[in-house]
Parts: sequence; C-alpha cells; structure tokens
Amino acid sequence: MGIPMLQAARIGSYIFRQHLSGRKRYPLVLMLEPLFRCNLACAGCGKIDYPSEILNQRLSYDECMEAIDECGAPVVSIAGGEPLLHKEMPKIVEGYLAKKKFVILCTNALLLEKKIDDYKPHPAFTWSIHLDGNEAMHDKSVCQTGVYDKAVAAIKLAKSKGFRVSINCTLFNDADPQQTADFFDDMKAIGLDGITVSPGYAYERAPDQQHFLNRTKTKELFRGILARGKGGKKWPFSQSTMFLNFLAGNEAYACTPWGNPTRTVFGWQKPCYLLGEGYAKTFRELMDDTEWDKYGVGNYEKCADCMVHSGFEASAVKHTVQNPLKAAMVFLRGVRTEGPMAPDISIENQRPAQFVFSGHVEKKLVEIRRTKSAKHGGSTKPGAQATIAAE
Ligand code: SF4
Repeated sequence: MGIPMLQAARIGSYIFRQHLSGRKRYPLVLMLEPLFRCNLACAGCGKIDYPSEILNQRLSYDECMEAIDECGAPVVSIAGGEPLLHKEMPKIVEGYLAKKKFVILCTNALLLEKKIDDYKPHPAFTWSIHLDGNEAMHDKSVCQTGVYDKAVAAIKLAKSKGFRVSINCTLFNDADPQQTADFFDDMKAIGLDGITVSPGYAYERAPDQQHFLNRTKTKELFRGILARGKGGKKWPFSQSTMFLNFLAGNEAYACTPWGNPTRTVFGWQKPCYLLGEGYAKTFRELMDDTEWDKYGVGNYEKCADCMVHSGFEASAVKHTVQNPLKAAMVFLRGVRTEGPMAPDISIENQRPAQFVFSGHVEKKLVEIRRTKSAKHGGSTKPGAQATIAAE
C-alpha cells in the first residue's frame, strides 16, 4: 500500500489518542482550498464558474496556518482551484511541514515544471497529480487535449528530483474496469508512490451532470477494477483497505464529514468538502453548530450517491480501529470482488435537496465589495479597488 510507515505510525497514534480521550468527532485531514481560480475548466467540477471577484480571493499564509492550528488534523490536503497559482504556496507548504504535518499538494501539473524548484523533497510532502485515467480518459475529463502527457511528464520530473508523487483519480460512469486497471499498472510502472481513487461526486454546479456514478454502478465498477488487481493488493493505493472494501460494496458506512473539514475563502464549509450548505467563521463553530444529523446517505437527497473518500475514508479508518482483525484479513486477502454486497442505507426518508449556492455567492460578493470600499475610503471607482489576485 502507498502509505509510508512514518505517516501510518504518526496518524495511528493521533487516532489512538483521540479514542483514548473519548472525543466523538475529530478531524483527520484538513481540506484546504486557498483559492478557486484554476487554469483548467473540467466538466465534473464547476468551481471556475464563480464570479471573478471570488476567483480573485486567496487565503493568506496566516489564514492557512490558523486553519491547521484551529483544527489540529495531522494531514493537510491542499486543493482548489489550482494551488500552484497561489504565489505564497511554497511558504504555506513549508509552514505546514514546520508544524510537523503531512502535506499533500494537489495539482493538475500544468505549472509543475515551472514551479518545481520552489519546493524541496521532504518525507512528509507529497505531490498529488490530478489524473483521471489514461490519455483518452483524462483529456476527456479535463476537456483539453495534451494534459495527460504534461501530467505524466511532471510525475517523471518530480520523481527524478526525489519527491514523493501520487495521483488523485476520479472515475465517472464511462470508466472501463480493464482500461482503469491497465492505467493503474502504467502508473505503478513509472514508480508512483500512491494512488487515491474515488467515484466522482455530482456537484450541482458541474457543467456535465450526465457522467456521475450512482451507488450500485460505483460498487460494480470498483469490483471490476479490483478483481483485475488481486483485490487491490497489486497497486499502491494511498487509501485504507477498508475504504476500498466499502467502494466494492462489502461495507455500508455512514459518512464522517467532520473527518475532512474544509476551509475555503468563504470560511469553514458546512458540512463537508463536497457540499457548501453554509459557512462557519471558526473550526469550533463548524463542529458545534453544524446539524450533522441532517446530512449523509439516507438523510439528505444530495448525499444519496456519495461514496467519495473525503466523506468515507474517516468512516473506514474508524471501522479499522474498531475491527483490527477484520481489517487485517481484508488487507492480507485483498478486497472481495464477488458474492453478495452489504445492504445499503435506505434513502426512503431523506430530506429533499436545498439549493443555497447563489445566496452564499451573493453574501460573499457583498463582503468583498464592502472590504474593498473600506480600504479605499469608501470609493467605489473600479480603478480604486484593490486586486486581491496574487498569481
Ligand atoms: S454523504 Fe457525507 S461526505 Fe458525501 S456529500 Fe453528503 S455529507 Fe458530504
């Protein structure tokens, strides 16, 4: 598996301490989105559609450090938007490493060659390159030809410079099990350190709503892939065995959205990385004031098809801690890819979806304009407005 011993030991000890202290909800991975601006416009995303005043916002270095100090998670995953467009990113990575955090820096790799010498290899630092499959799959997913080749060249460059490199791979309903297994073989052959794989979540603002997987299709797809790779043992997955077991339909977990709390330019996102149903000013407020029982599979329509790692990896880790023998057996034997699936959570009584996105955008725009106006003595002349963009 693609989790280094140092990381597994330190995170294991963190989890053990949380359990010993009786803490009911605790974070594992801070999901940091320090900007929404991107240099791609992928069909399954939609963040690039924010108004430019929001796309020009950045979390500052200090805000990024405050976020990890507030939540205390042992790992931070930096996404976006495209993090390499943030000019303080090398300093932010260094800041987290100095705080003894594990840092995963997600990138589409288009700027990696240009920026790579701003970073230094470190055992706790991993590049996570966005790669949704082979050349045809990935270039289709990011709506641009040539991106796969650039990403693979970037992986090889980063490996040649001594960095740890993984990929994050999102699969949609047109993914073919054999093609995906062949792609994982190719990635292993180029010496990749880890693979993070997840079914795509149907973001309500994603331009392409036709290609997201439902729960049954997700489980069938992952059984098909894992069956071609010794139940997953063949490839260096960065995820827990029990999460893969869940993806293959052998477990039915409720999600653990607080396991991967999300800090964006809007604040702490309620309830999770995938849904922006509200924002809290502080991590404490996020934990105390979010009505957690209103979310998750069976509780909320928008959650019905979600099986994404940011929602369920923490559930799998908790299950592993509570059932170490079972987890060890799955690890040794590989994920079962045949036979009956675990009965899933009923969605019969889920509450209907609420659409609150435009209200949050309007509120943020008012806040941005008020701040700019105050900085310029109340002037509303366009030329007097500060540019917050920091590329
Ligand atoms: S199931 Fe959980 S992780 Fe997935 S969208 Fe709903 S609240 Fe978020």
